[in-house]
Amino acid sequence: MPGYKLAIDGPAGSGKSTISSLIAKKLGWTHIDTGAMYRAVTLQAIELGINLNDEASYRFLETSKIHYDFDRIFINDRDVTEGIRSEGVTNNVSLVSSFPYVRKKLVDLQKMAAEYGNIVMDGRDIGTVVLPHADLKIFLTANVEERAKRRFKELTKKGKETHLSKVIEDILNRDQKDSTRKESPLRIADDAIVLDTTYLTIDEVVNKIIELTDKKEN
Ligand code: C5P
Repeated sequence: MPGYKLAIDGPAGSGKSTISSLIAKKLGWTHIDTGAMYRAVTLQAIELGINLNDEASYRFLETSKIHYDFDRIFINDRDVTEGIRSEGVTNNVSLVSSFPYVRKKLVDLQKMAAEYGNIVMDGRDIGTVVLPHADLKIFLTANVEERAKRRFKELTKKGKETHLSKVIEDILNRDQKDSTRKESPLRIADDAIVLDTTYLTIDEVVNKIIELTDKKEN
């Protein structure tokens, strides 16, 4: 049986990954965080010292291996789960993910990973490009101040020094790049359910989505 496909998209800081991971744990499904995959490619590109603006330099992907083991992500068997959250990666990931060659490589991997089993996949183009026939498509939003506050809390918890105004600026910058790029921009799929999470707790969002999956059995 192919299984249930749940697509969760939304802008930076909308809580997609946290919420998807909790849903997957509660239901015993597989979670695939596609943002982590674009981040892994960005980290590898930075480490290799390639020209990040040159699409042809990303040919290293022909021989790279990216894989998941539960919520940990590996490049060529090296665990990069923490490394992909660095400022250098965050500042460059929107550029890297704008190249059609990079997207094609990762979208192919994502489609393959979603072929069998019950899957929760989160990103920017899951409902529109990766899983256009998903059983349920959710688009998470929240106002930018709330998204920035959540990200700010996360960063300070990890001991990273920053200012809320800088986090707001970074989020707006990334949203702008992600929604205006030519290739698979961030957009709401026609058949997606939009959930504004500004005034909801994480548990409320998780439970609401699980309720929706119950109503939309495949
Ligand atoms: O989800 P996260 O914020 O970690 O994603 C990092 C970046 O990866 C996004 O800002 C976007 O540029 C890119 N991305 C994408 N398509 C996806 C997932 C993420 O272009 N499906």
